[in-house]
Amino acid sequence: MNDLYPDRSQEIILICKRVVDRNLTVSSGGNISARLADGNICITPLKGNRSLADLRESDLSVVDTAGNVLRGSRPSNELPMHLAIYSVEDEVKFIIHAHPPLATAYSSEKMLPMGTMVESMRLKMAIVEADAPGSQELAEKVAMEVKRGANAVLLESHGVVILASDAGESLMILEELESACRTDLIRRILRTGCSK
Ligand SMILES: [Zn+2]
Repeated sequence: MNDLYPDRSQEIILICKRVVDRNLTVSSGGNISARLADGNICITPLKGNRSLADLRESDLSVVDTAGNVLRGSRPSNELPMHLAIYSVEDEVKFIIHAHPPLATAYSSEKMLPMGTMVESMRLKMAIVEADAPGSQELAEKVAMEVKRGANAVLLESHGVVILASDAGESLMILEELESACRTDLIRRILRTGCSK
């Protein structure tokens, strides 16, 4: 795989480590994929209890747009969500699904962060109702929001899905979303404290 897809597999592994290092997911939670030049998808594997940070390039899986495994390991069970997003938006080249603590808490409350800072960011947020992780139903709900223009979709009581045209932008959007939640939370706490 490394001979065929050197850039994308290295990128995926690099982003896996950064997502964990920056506390943007917890433990083994999350999966990451990239669209390859030939239209196939490279995605992190079904990894059991292994952390994203421990994955190597040889662990990755390559599938076609129908989800058939072409090379490597068994893909993440959230592959349907990745495939659905790629199928509705040609510009999407990189997807991060993660469980960042604050954005996941916001998703559980069915809340989106607000404030002037959020408006100046590149975030286009949406939230979808809970469905079983890995289900086609969840995949279709997320794809619908992507079709409407979202690049940061909160999955109720679960986590977030970020999509962009490259790896770096995907990571920035994820960081902006978590930062927006942190700032909004602190603003709410300060307001509550000041009103006493
Ligand atoms: Zn998940």
